[in-house]
Amino acid sequence: MVDVILKKGKEKAVLQRHPWLFSGAIETVKGKPANGDIVRLLNDKGDFMAYGFYNDQSRVALRLLEWDQNVAIDEDWFRKKVALAVSSRSNILGDKNDTCRLIFSEADYLPGLIVDKYADYLAVQVLTAGIEKMLPVIIDELQRLLNPEGIFDKSDASSRAHEGLQTINKVLAGKHPTEIVKVLENNINYGINIAEGQKSGFYCDQRDNRHIVALHAKGKKVLDCFSYTGGFTLNCLQNGAESVTSVDSSALAIETLRTHIQLNGFNASQTTAIQSDVNKQLRLLREQGEKFDLVILDPPKYAPSRSSLNKASRAYKDLNRMGMLLLSSGGLLATFSCSGAMDIDTFKQVLAWAALDAGKEVQFIYQFCQPEDHPVRASFPEGEYLKGLLCRVY
Ligand code: SAH
Repeated sequence: MVDVILKKGKEKAVLQRHPWLFSGAIETVKGKPANGDIVRLLNDKGDFMAYGFYNDQSRVALRLLEWDQNVAIDEDWFRKKVALAVSSRSNILGDKNDTCRLIFSEADYLPGLIVDKYADYLAVQVLTAGIEKMLPVIIDELQRLLNPEGIFDKSDASSRAHEGLQTINKVLAGKHPTEIVKVLENNINYGINIAEGQKSGFYCDQRDNRHIVALHAKGKKVLDCFSYTGGFTLNCLQNGAESVTSVDSSALAIETLRTHIQLNGFNASQTTAIQSDVNKQLRLLREQGEKFDLVILDPPKYAPSRSSLNKASRAYKDLNRMGMLLLSSGGLLATFSCSGAMDIDTFKQVLAWAALDAGKEVQFIYQFCQPEDHPVRASFPEGEYLKGLLCRVY
Protein backbone atom coordinates (compact mmCIF):
# COMPACT_ATOMS: atom_id res chain seq x y z
CA MET A 1 0.00 0.00 0.00
CA VAL A 2 1.30 3.45 -0.97
CA ASP A 3 2.02 6.00 1.77
CA VAL A 4 0.83 9.57 1.36
CA ILE A 5 2.49 12.14 3.61
CA LEU A 6 0.50 15.01 5.03
CA LYS A 7 1.94 18.52 5.16
CA LYS A 8 2.94 19.72 8.60
CA GLY A 9 0.09 21.50 10.39
CA LYS A 10 -2.65 19.89 8.28
CA GLU A 11 -3.65 17.24 10.80
CA LYS A 12 -6.61 18.90 12.47
CA ALA A 13 -9.38 18.05 9.99
CA VAL A 14 -8.08 14.48 9.65
CA LEU A 15 -8.07 14.04 13.42
CA GLN A 16 -11.62 15.39 13.51
CA ARG A 17 -12.46 12.64 11.01
CA HIS A 18 -13.44 14.90 8.17
CA PRO A 19 -13.58 12.50 5.20
CA TRP A 20 -12.01 14.85 2.63
CA LEU A 21 -8.37 15.69 2.17
CA PHE A 22 -7.59 18.32 -0.43
CA SER A 23 -4.58 17.94 -2.68
CA GLY A 24 -3.00 21.08 -1.17
CA ALA A 25 -2.61 19.31 2.19
CA ILE A 26 -0.39 16.59 0.73
CA GLU A 27 3.40 16.86 1.07
CA THR A 28 4.41 13.79 -0.96
CA VAL A 29 3.06 10.58 -2.42
CA LYS A 30 5.56 7.76 -1.93
CA GLY A 31 4.94 5.77 -5.06
CA LYS A 32 2.49 5.81 -7.94
CA PRO A 33 -0.95 4.78 -6.76
CA ALA A 34 -3.61 4.41 -9.41
CA ASN A 35 -6.70 6.53 -9.03
CA GLY A 36 -9.14 4.75 -6.76
CA ASP A 37 -6.42 2.80 -4.94
CA ILE A 38 -6.52 2.68 -1.17
CA VAL A 39 -3.53 4.44 0.37
CA ARG A 40 -2.21 5.05 3.86
CA LEU A 41 -2.05 8.65 5.13
CA LEU A 42 0.82 9.46 7.49
CA ASN A 43 1.71 12.74 9.19
CA ASP A 44 5.08 14.44 8.70
CA LYS A 45 6.53 12.39 11.59
CA GLY A 46 5.46 9.14 9.96
CA ASP A 47 2.54 8.41 12.31
CA PHE A 48 -0.51 6.69 10.86
CA MET A 49 -3.51 8.99 10.34
CA ALA A 50 -6.06 7.20 8.14
CA TYR A 51 -6.73 5.03 5.09
CA GLY A 52 -8.40 6.55 2.07
CA PHE A 53 -9.15 6.41 -1.65
CA TYR A 54 -6.54 8.20 -3.73
CA ASN A 55 -7.32 10.28 -6.80
CA ASP A 56 -4.91 12.81 -8.32
CA GLN A 57 -7.58 14.03 -10.76
CA SER A 58 -9.82 15.32 -8.02
CA ARG A 59 -9.43 18.39 -5.81
CA VAL A 60 -10.33 15.99 -3.01
CA ALA A 61 -7.20 13.92 -3.48
CA LEU A 62 -8.00 11.55 -0.62
CA ARG A 63 -11.41 10.36 0.56
CA LEU A 64 -10.78 9.00 4.00
CA LEU A 65 -12.36 5.71 4.93
CA GLU A 66 -10.92 4.41 8.17
CA TRP A 67 -8.98 5.93 11.07
CA ASP A 68 -8.08 2.68 12.86
CA GLN A 69 -4.73 1.39 11.63
CA ASN A 70 -5.57 -2.18 12.65
CA VAL A 71 -8.70 -2.47 10.54
CA ALA A 72 -8.16 -4.01 7.12
CA ILE A 73 -9.89 -2.16 4.26
CA ASP A 74 -10.78 -5.28 2.35
CA GLU A 75 -13.90 -6.61 0.64
CA ASP A 76 -15.40 -7.41 3.99
CA TRP A 77 -15.00 -3.78 5.13
CA PHE A 78 -17.09 -2.62 2.16
CA ARG A 79 -19.68 -5.36 2.64
CA LYS A 80 -20.11 -4.32 6.29
CA LYS A 81 -20.63 -0.65 5.42
CA VAL A 82 -23.21 -1.56 2.78
CA ALA A 83 -25.04 -3.81 5.23
CA LEU A 84 -24.98 -1.16 7.95
CA ALA A 85 -26.51 1.46 5.68
CA VAL A 86 -29.18 -0.88 4.34
CA SER A 87 -30.23 -2.09 7.79
CA SER A 88 -30.53 1.48 9.07
CA ARG A 89 -33.32 2.14 6.55
CA SER A 90 -35.62 -0.56 7.90
CA ASN A 91 -37.60 2.08 9.79
CA ILE A 92 -38.60 3.81 6.57
CA LEU A 93 -39.47 0.86 4.38
CA GLY A 94 -42.77 -0.90 4.96
CA ASP A 95 -46.44 -0.86 3.93
CA LYS A 96 -46.47 2.79 2.95
CA ASN A 97 -42.98 3.24 1.52
CA ASP A 98 -40.99 1.03 -0.80
CA THR A 99 -38.60 3.71 -2.00
CA CYS A 100 -35.77 5.51 -0.20
CA ARG A 101 -32.06 6.25 -0.35
CA LEU A 102 -30.21 3.20 0.90
CA ILE A 103 -26.67 4.58 0.77
CA PHE A 104 -25.79 8.26 1.00
CA SER A 105 -22.10 8.55 0.18
CA GLU A 106 -19.82 10.01 2.90
CA ALA A 107 -22.71 10.08 5.39
CA ASP A 108 -22.83 6.28 5.16
CA TYR A 109 -19.04 5.91 5.17
CA LEU A 110 -18.89 5.08 1.44
CA PRO A 111 -17.62 8.27 -0.25
CA GLY A 112 -19.00 8.58 -3.76
CA LEU A 113 -21.64 5.85 -3.58
CA ILE A 114 -25.35 6.61 -3.79
CA VAL A 115 -27.91 3.83 -3.91
CA ASP A 116 -31.64 4.45 -4.20
CA LYS A 117 -34.30 1.81 -3.86
CA TYR A 118 -37.32 1.95 -6.16
CA ALA A 119 -39.53 -0.95 -5.13
CA ASP A 120 -37.70 -4.02 -6.50
CA TYR A 121 -35.04 -2.06 -8.39
CA LEU A 122 -31.93 -0.26 -7.25
CA ALA A 123 -30.37 2.77 -8.92
CA VAL A 124 -26.68 3.27 -8.24
CA GLN A 125 -24.55 6.38 -8.72
CA VAL A 126 -20.80 6.02 -8.59
CA LEU A 127 -19.03 9.34 -8.16
CA THR A 128 -15.51 8.33 -7.17
CA ALA A 129 -12.82 6.19 -8.74
CA GLY A 130 -12.45 4.28 -5.45
CA ILE A 131 -16.07 3.17 -5.37
CA GLU A 132 -15.86 2.32 -9.07
CA LYS A 133 -13.09 -0.18 -8.24
CA MET A 134 -15.07 -1.75 -5.42
CA LEU A 135 -18.33 -1.83 -7.36
CA PRO A 136 -18.41 -5.61 -8.06
CA VAL A 137 -18.22 -6.32 -4.31
CA ILE A 138 -20.81 -3.64 -3.51
CA ILE A 139 -23.21 -4.98 -6.15
CA ASP A 140 -22.72 -8.50 -4.89
CA GLU A 141 -23.51 -7.44 -1.32
CA LEU A 142 -26.61 -5.51 -2.41
CA GLN A 143 -27.82 -8.60 -4.26
CA ARG A 144 -27.14 -10.80 -1.25
CA LEU A 145 -29.00 -8.48 1.10
CA LEU A 146 -31.92 -7.38 -1.04
CA ASN A 147 -32.18 -9.71 -4.02
CA PRO A 148 -33.51 -6.94 -6.29
CA GLU A 149 -35.02 -7.52 -9.74
CA GLY A 150 -32.32 -5.35 -11.21
CA ILE A 151 -29.57 -2.87 -10.40
CA PHE A 152 -29.15 0.05 -12.76
CA ASP A 153 -26.17 2.40 -12.97
CA LYS A 154 -27.36 6.01 -13.10
CA SER A 155 -23.92 7.60 -12.81
CA ASP A 156 -24.60 10.48 -15.16
CA ALA A 157 -23.70 13.17 -12.65
CA SER A 158 -21.36 15.89 -13.85
CA SER A 159 -19.25 15.36 -10.71
CA ARG A 160 -17.99 12.12 -12.24
CA ALA A 161 -15.97 14.21 -14.65
CA HIS A 162 -14.02 15.67 -11.69
CA GLU A 163 -12.85 12.16 -10.90
CA GLY A 164 -11.97 11.43 -14.52
CA LEU A 165 -14.87 8.98 -14.91
CA GLN A 166 -17.13 8.48 -17.92
CA THR A 167 -20.88 8.87 -17.85
CA ILE A 168 -22.68 5.54 -17.52
CA ASN A 169 -26.29 4.43 -17.88
CA LYS A 170 -26.47 0.65 -17.85
CA VAL A 171 -27.69 -2.47 -16.10
CA LEU A 172 -25.23 -3.75 -13.49
CA ALA A 173 -27.16 -6.82 -12.43
CA GLY A 174 -30.47 -8.54 -13.09
CA LYS A 175 -33.08 -7.02 -15.40
CA HIS A 176 -33.26 -3.62 -17.05
CA PRO A 177 -35.92 -1.70 -15.11
CA THR A 178 -39.30 -1.59 -16.81
CA GLU A 179 -39.89 1.79 -18.46
CA ILE A 180 -42.07 2.76 -15.52
CA VAL A 181 -41.35 1.30 -12.10
CA LYS A 182 -44.26 1.66 -9.68
CA VAL A 183 -43.26 2.82 -6.22
CA LEU A 184 -45.08 3.82 -3.07
CA GLU A 185 -44.15 6.78 -0.90
CA ASN A 186 -46.30 8.03 1.99
CA ASN A 187 -48.90 5.56 0.67
CA ILE A 188 -49.02 7.42 -2.67
CA ASN A 189 -48.26 5.71 -6.00
CA TYR A 190 -45.65 7.01 -8.40
CA GLY A 191 -44.40 5.70 -11.71
CA ILE A 192 -40.66 6.26 -11.88
CA ASN A 193 -38.66 6.26 -15.05
CA ILE A 194 -35.31 5.23 -13.60
CA ALA A 195 -33.43 5.54 -16.88
CA GLU A 196 -34.76 8.95 -18.00
CA GLY A 197 -35.90 10.89 -14.90
CA GLN A 198 -33.98 13.81 -13.43
CA LYS A 199 -31.46 12.97 -10.73
CA SER A 200 -32.20 9.30 -10.08
CA GLY A 201 -35.83 9.61 -11.05
CA PHE A 202 -37.37 10.86 -7.83
CA TYR A 203 -36.57 13.29 -5.04
CA CYS A 204 -36.95 10.97 -2.08
CA ASP A 205 -35.28 13.50 0.22
CA GLN A 206 -38.60 15.37 0.50
CA ARG A 207 -40.62 12.37 1.74
CA ASP A 208 -41.10 13.58 5.33
CA ASN A 209 -41.47 17.23 4.33
CA ARG A 210 -44.22 16.35 1.83
CA HIS A 211 -46.09 14.64 4.63
CA ILE A 212 -45.62 17.54 7.06
CA VAL A 213 -46.65 20.17 4.50
CA ALA A 214 -49.72 18.13 3.56
CA LEU A 215 -50.85 18.14 7.20
CA HIS A 216 -51.56 21.85 6.62
CA ALA A 217 -53.33 21.41 3.27
CA LYS A 218 -56.80 20.20 4.26
CA GLY A 219 -59.47 22.35 2.62
CA LYS A 220 -56.78 24.70 1.28
CA LYS A 221 -56.08 26.26 -2.07
CA VAL A 222 -52.50 25.19 -2.75
CA LEU A 223 -49.81 26.40 -5.17
CA ASP A 224 -46.97 23.89 -5.65
CA CYS A 225 -44.03 25.57 -7.41
CA PHE A 226 -41.22 23.44 -8.89
CA SER A 227 -43.60 20.52 -8.57
CA TYR A 228 -41.56 18.03 -10.63
CA THR A 229 -43.74 14.91 -10.83
CA GLY A 230 -46.02 16.04 -8.02
CA GLY A 231 -44.47 15.03 -4.70
CA PHE A 232 -46.06 17.86 -2.72
CA THR A 233 -49.13 18.11 -4.97
CA LEU A 234 -50.13 14.49 -4.42
CA ASN A 235 -49.56 14.55 -0.66
CA CYS A 236 -51.72 17.68 -0.41
CA LEU A 237 -54.49 16.09 -2.49
CA GLN A 238 -54.35 12.97 -0.37
CA ASN A 239 -54.79 15.09 2.72
CA GLY A 240 -57.89 16.86 1.40
CA ALA A 241 -56.61 20.01 -0.30
CA GLU A 242 -59.47 21.86 -2.01
CA SER A 243 -57.36 22.51 -5.12
CA VAL A 244 -53.73 22.34 -6.17
CA THR A 245 -52.03 24.33 -8.91
CA SER A 246 -48.65 22.81 -9.86
CA VAL A 247 -45.95 24.57 -11.84
CA ASP A 248 -42.77 23.14 -13.36
CA SER A 249 -40.75 24.05 -16.43
CA SER A 250 -40.22 20.43 -17.47
CA ALA A 251 -42.82 19.07 -19.89
CA LEU A 252 -42.00 15.50 -18.89
CA ALA A 253 -42.44 16.33 -15.20
CA ILE A 254 -45.86 17.90 -15.80
CA GLU A 255 -46.96 15.02 -18.01
CA THR A 256 -45.85 12.53 -15.34
CA LEU A 257 -47.61 14.55 -12.63
CA ARG A 258 -50.87 14.23 -14.58
CA THR A 259 -50.46 10.46 -14.82
CA HIS A 260 -49.74 10.34 -11.06
CA ILE A 261 -53.02 12.14 -10.34
CA GLN A 262 -54.83 9.47 -12.36
CA LEU A 263 -52.80 6.62 -10.90
CA ASN A 264 -53.93 7.61 -7.41
CA GLY A 265 -57.54 8.22 -8.39
CA PHE A 266 -57.50 11.87 -7.35
CA ASN A 267 -60.07 14.21 -8.85
CA ALA A 268 -58.39 15.88 -11.83
CA SER A 269 -60.83 18.81 -11.68
CA GLN A 270 -59.21 19.89 -8.40
CA THR A 271 -55.84 20.20 -10.07
CA THR A 272 -54.17 22.51 -12.57
CA ALA A 273 -50.75 21.52 -13.90
CA ILE A 274 -48.87 24.27 -15.71
CA GLN A 275 -45.66 23.88 -17.67
CA SER A 276 -43.97 27.22 -17.21
CA ASP A 277 -41.11 29.09 -15.67
CA VAL A 278 -42.06 29.63 -12.02
CA ASN A 279 -40.91 33.25 -11.91
CA LYS A 280 -43.02 34.06 -14.96
CA GLN A 281 -46.00 32.14 -13.65
CA LEU A 282 -45.89 33.80 -10.23
CA ARG A 283 -45.98 37.21 -11.89
CA LEU A 284 -48.86 36.14 -14.09
CA LEU A 285 -50.87 34.79 -11.15
CA ARG A 286 -50.27 38.06 -9.32
CA GLU A 287 -51.51 40.08 -12.29
CA GLN A 288 -54.60 37.88 -12.38
CA GLY A 289 -55.23 38.69 -8.71
CA GLU A 290 -54.97 35.04 -7.61
CA LYS A 291 -54.50 34.21 -3.93
CA PHE A 292 -53.58 30.91 -2.27
CA ASP A 293 -53.72 29.53 1.29
CA LEU A 294 -50.55 27.47 0.97
CA VAL A 295 -47.62 28.17 -1.36
CA ILE A 296 -44.81 25.61 -1.74
CA LEU A 297 -41.44 26.66 -3.17
CA ASP A 298 -38.99 23.82 -3.80
CA PRO A 299 -36.54 25.25 -6.35
CA PRO A 300 -33.43 23.53 -7.73
CA LYS A 301 -30.08 24.30 -6.14
CA TYR A 302 -29.50 28.05 -6.68
CA ALA A 303 -26.10 28.11 -4.93
CA PRO A 304 -23.86 25.29 -6.23
CA SER A 305 -20.94 26.70 -4.21
CA ARG A 306 -20.09 29.23 -1.49
CA SER A 307 -18.93 31.73 -4.10
CA SER A 308 -22.38 31.86 -5.68
CA LEU A 309 -24.18 32.37 -2.36
CA ASN A 310 -24.74 36.13 -2.72
CA LYS A 311 -26.24 35.84 -6.16
CA ALA A 312 -28.31 32.84 -5.07
CA SER A 313 -29.55 34.69 -1.98
CA ARG A 314 -30.99 37.40 -4.21
CA ALA A 315 -32.73 34.76 -6.34
CA TYR A 316 -34.14 33.05 -3.23
CA LYS A 317 -35.27 36.43 -1.91
CA ASP A 318 -37.09 37.39 -5.13
CA LEU A 319 -38.75 34.00 -5.39
CA ASN A 320 -39.94 34.05 -1.79
CA ARG A 321 -41.13 37.66 -2.05
CA MET A 322 -43.33 36.62 -4.99
CA GLY A 323 -44.58 33.57 -3.08
CA MET A 324 -45.52 35.73 -0.09
CA LEU A 325 -47.42 38.19 -2.28
CA LEU A 326 -49.64 35.37 -3.57
CA LEU A 327 -50.78 34.32 -0.09
CA SER A 328 -53.98 35.40 1.53
CA SER A 329 -53.41 36.89 4.98
CA GLY A 330 -52.45 34.20 7.50
CA GLY A 331 -51.54 31.82 4.66
CA LEU A 332 -48.61 29.43 4.79
CA LEU A 333 -45.41 29.43 2.80
CA ALA A 334 -43.44 26.16 2.75
CA THR A 335 -40.09 27.17 1.32
CA PHE A 336 -36.97 25.08 0.73
CA SER A 337 -33.34 25.39 -0.22
CA CYS A 338 -31.29 22.38 -1.27
CA SER A 339 -28.11 24.48 -1.60
CA GLY A 340 -25.52 23.15 0.83
CA ALA A 341 -23.85 26.56 0.84
CA MET A 342 -26.99 28.18 2.27
CA ASP A 343 -27.32 27.37 5.97
CA ILE A 344 -30.56 27.70 7.87
CA ASP A 345 -29.61 31.01 9.50
CA THR A 346 -28.78 32.59 6.16
CA PHE A 347 -32.02 31.21 4.76
CA LYS A 348 -33.98 32.83 7.61
CA GLN A 349 -32.22 36.11 6.85
CA VAL A 350 -33.17 35.81 3.17
CA LEU A 351 -36.79 35.27 4.18
CA ALA A 352 -36.67 38.27 6.50
CA TRP A 353 -35.53 40.40 3.52
CA ALA A 354 -38.23 38.91 1.32
CA ALA A 355 -40.84 39.74 3.97
CA LEU A 356 -39.61 43.33 4.19
CA ASP A 357 -39.68 43.73 0.42
CA ALA A 358 -43.15 42.21 0.20
CA GLY A 359 -44.41 44.37 3.07
CA LYS A 360 -45.41 41.23 4.99
CA GLU A 361 -45.05 39.94 8.56
CA VAL A 362 -43.60 36.45 8.71
CA GLN A 363 -43.54 33.91 11.53
CA PHE A 364 -41.37 30.80 11.26
CA ILE A 365 -43.54 28.00 12.58
CA TYR A 366 -41.57 24.91 11.58
CA GLN A 367 -38.09 24.04 10.36
CA PHE A 368 -37.70 21.31 7.73
CA CYS A 369 -34.58 19.20 7.30
CA GLN A 370 -33.41 16.18 5.36
CA PRO A 371 -34.84 12.78 6.31
CA GLU A 372 -33.12 9.90 8.08
CA ASP A 373 -32.11 8.18 4.85
CA HIS A 374 -30.00 11.29 4.13
CA PRO A 375 -28.09 11.34 7.42
CA VAL A 376 -25.68 14.13 8.30
CA ARG A 377 -22.43 12.71 9.65
CA ALA A 378 -21.20 14.78 12.59
CA SER A 379 -17.70 15.06 11.13
CA PHE A 380 -19.04 16.02 7.68
CA PRO A 381 -21.34 19.06 7.89
CA GLU A 382 -21.06 19.46 4.08
CA GLY A 383 -23.52 16.57 3.81
CA GLU A 384 -26.30 18.76 5.17
CA TYR A 385 -27.98 20.42 2.21
CA LEU A 386 -31.75 20.34 2.48
CA LYS A 387 -33.51 22.82 4.70
CA GLY A 388 -36.79 24.62 4.70
CA LEU A 389 -39.15 26.78 6.69
CA LEU A 390 -42.85 26.77 7.14
CA CYS A 391 -43.87 30.39 7.48
CA ARG A 392 -47.12 32.03 8.42
CA VAL A 393 -47.46 35.19 6.39
CA TYR A 394 -49.61 38.20 7.34
N1 SAH B 1 -40.84 19.47 -5.47
C1 SAH B 1 -40.36 18.39 -6.30
C2 SAH B 1 -38.89 18.45 -6.58
C3 SAH B 1 -38.42 19.72 -7.21
S1 SAH B 1 -36.92 19.59 -8.03
C4 SAH B 1 -40.76 17.07 -5.66
O1 SAH B 1 -41.34 17.07 -4.57
O2 SAH B 1 -40.52 16.03 -6.27
C5 SAH B 1 -36.83 21.07 -8.89
C6 SAH B 1 -37.76 21.18 -10.07
O3 SAH B 1 -37.68 22.52 -10.55
C7 SAH B 1 -37.44 20.31 -11.29
O4 SAH B 1 -38.56 19.53 -11.57
C8 SAH B 1 -37.18 21.30 -12.44
O5 SAH B 1 -37.76 20.88 -13.66
C9 SAH B 1 -37.89 22.52 -11.94
N2 SAH B 1 -37.40 23.83 -12.41
C10 SAH B 1 -36.12 24.27 -12.45
N3 SAH B 1 -36.10 25.58 -12.82
C11 SAH B 1 -37.38 25.95 -12.99
C12 SAH B 1 -38.02 27.18 -13.35
N4 SAH B 1 -37.31 28.28 -13.57
N5 SAH B 1 -39.37 27.21 -13.42
C13 SAH B 1 -40.08 26.09 -13.18
N6 SAH B 1 -39.54 24.92 -12.82
C14 SAH B 1 -38.22 24.85 -12.73
